[in-house]
Amino acid sequence: MTTLPDHRPALPGLAPNLLEHLLTLDARDPLAHKRAEFTLPEGVVYLDGNSLGAMPRAVPGRLARVLHGEWGEALIRSWTAGAERGEDWMALPDRVAAKVARLIGAQAHEVAVGDSTSVNLFKVLAAALHLNPDRRVILTDAENFPTDLYVAQGLGELLGRGHELRRVPAREIAAQLTPDVAAVLLTEVDYRTGERLDMAAVTAAAHAQGVLTVWDLAHSAGAFPVDLRGAGADFAVGCGYKYLNGGPGAPAFVFVAERHLPHAPTALSGWMGHAEPFEMECTYRPAEHARRFVVGTPQVLSLSALDTALDVFADVNLGDLRAKSLSLTDTFITLMAPLGERFPLTLVTPLDHARRGSQVSYRHPDAARVMDRLTGRGIIGDFRTPDILRFGFTPLYHSHLDVARAVLGVQAVLEEQA
Ligand SMILES: *Cc1c(COP(=O)(O)O)cnc(C)c1O
Repeated sequence: MTTLPDHRPALPGLAPNLLEHLLTLDARDPLAHKRAEFTLPEGVVYLDGNSLGAMPRAVPGRLARVLHGEWGEALIRSWTAGAERGEDWMALPDRVAAKVARLIGAQAHEVAVGDSTSVNLFKVLAAALHLNPDRRVILTDAENFPTDLYVAQGLGELLGRGHELRRVPAREIAAQLTPDVAAVLLTEVDYRTGERLDMAAVTAAAHAQGVLTVWDLAHSAGAFPVDLRGAGADFAVGCGYKYLNGGPGAPAFVFVAERHLPHAPTALSGWMGHAEPFEMECTYRPAEHARRFVVGTPQVLSLSALDTALDVFADVNLGDLRAKSLSLTDTFITLMAPLGERFPLTLVTPLDHARRGSQVSYRHPDAARVMDRLTGRGIIGDFRTPDILRFGFTPLYHSHLDVARAVLGVQAVLEEQA
């Protein structure tokens, strides 16, 4: 047996042949160099990029330039300065939209960036209901993320036309596409279990019944390649601060399929979605394409952070991203398996690759306390009520060795607690 050279990390409790195997996987990782593009605290394994992505190293410099050079110096001129190079603040939402579009399989003019995921959901759901006026049901996953449920409930009540939010288990969605359903609202990857739906199949089934689709990509965009056009999706929204690493409260995005653009109302028709905002016309005339879904003044500081954060993806092959995500989650599931035999841990994430996002979750009767202790050891995942331990894997900044460190941390906490 070969002995490990000194620079190899000491991971007490990890069999040397397993360590060798993980180091081999890391040595072959085409995305290994991306880790250096992020700021991450020493000694921490950060498994919560599905809740708040880590900070790309280039962001503080960009923000400093925006603050001191643009806001501090150029002031109001920054709205139009550099317009010929597309660097003016006015173009920022479009520029960021084009970067997001590549990650979600959309054309740039089908994407708008701004506001929050919740607000964007309101916009596209309102558009979907408008386009299917004779139907009154919004069908959704019973366990969908709370804001998705609340927005749908609130919109239905506001419309005052007897809309109903019908919540059914995700698996039954296809069977529930009845003629009264206007739109189906689904989160592609379940935030608790990490289960991924088959977007293309659900969309096709919905269309066959005259139902429009609204996809929430909060746990998809930046985690793996999304193919909205390939799936024939109608509408989508997604989050800027999770796998896109845009920073806390980063602007979100909205997707409207090209075929709906001429007819989809914006719900919130603000001046920045006008065709010519500075013509100050008294009547709303929507901008061409998805830009009309930008409502008010672009959030320049946070858009700038997101703009730079998205550059991290510029040289990333999205197939490599998915392959590494699956390799990380496979490794985690495999290394955790023996713990499941000694402790009350139940895997709730599907083993089937096609049905898995980029997170792995377990049920544990004392999950909140387990996660507290894990966090105390620098293994940062999160707890979701009532009993879910959630571990998000980010192919851009995790190694297989990080996965082993996380598993050893879980093992130590569970042993301590027993
Ligand atoms: C994180 C998340 C959101 C976030 O919505 P905000 O408006 O940014 O707070 C929405 N939907 C899902 C499914 C999420 O996971």
